[in-house]
Amino acid sequence: MLDVIVFLGIQGSGKGTQAELLAERTGFQHINIGDLFREEVHKQTELGKKVQAIIAKGELVQDELVFEIVNASLTADCAGVVFDGFPRTLAQAEYLLKNYNVRRVYYLELNEEEAIARIEARRLCSSCGETYNILSKKPKQEGICDKCGSPLVQRTDDSGEAIRERVKAFYEQTFALKEYFAEKGLLKEISARKSIEEIQQEIINDLKTR
Ligand code: AMP
Repeated sequence: MLDVIVFLGIQGSGKGTQAELLAERTGFQHINIGDLFREEVHKQTELGKKVQAIIAKGELVQDELVFEIVNASLTADCAGVVFDGFPRTLAQAEYLLKNYNVRRVYYLELNEEEAIARIEARRLCSSCGETYNILSKKPKQEGICDKCGSPLVQRTDDSGEAIRERVKAFYEQTFALKEYFAEKGLLKEISARKSIEEIQQEIINDLKTR
C-alpha cells in the first residue's frame, strides 16, 4: 500500500503550506482536494458542474465524489502522498485507512476566531494562482501579484456566510477525526501559531521516529 501523510486542521491553520513544503522535501505527491475541485469547476467538467454549488456554499462534497477525484489524481509512480484537505469525514477516514498505509496524521491546532481572521486575509492572484495573506504574506504592491503583476482577488468562499459554513462543517464533521486517529496512535498535534519553519522542522523530526 502507498505511504501517505495527512494534514488535518481548520481552514487557515496553514496545512496547505506545510503539506507543500513536506511534499517537496520527501518527493511525495501533494494532493489538495480543494484545489482539484476548483480546477474541475473552472474547466466546467461533469464533476465540476456537480460540485460547484456545494463548494460555493462552503458545504462538504459527497464522499463518493471525493474518492473519485483522489483516485483520478494519483500519479502511477509516486513514492507516496501528502494529503491536504482529506479526509474530512469519518467515512473518508475509514476509506483512507483501508486503502493506504498512513504513516502520520498532523493536526494543526488553531482557534476559530484566529482561523476566520486568517482566512479573511487570504488573497489569490487572479492569473497565476499565487497565494498571499494581507496580514502575514503581503504582496510588495497592494492588490498586485509579485510574480505576474495581475490583480489579487479573494476566493468567493473565503468571506461571509461561506466561511461560517466551512468552519461549521469542520467542527461538525472533521474535528472528530482528531480523536479517531489519536486512538490509532497516528496523531501528532502541533500549534499552528508557531512559525512556518518551526512547524516544518517539528514534522521532519517527528517523521524520523516513525
Ligand atoms: P479547501 O480549499 O480545502 O477549503 O476546500 C474547498 C472546498 O472543497 C470545501 O469547502 C469543500 O466544499 C470541498 N472539499 C475539499 N476537500 C473535501 C473533502 N475531503 N470532502 C468533502 N469536500 C471537500
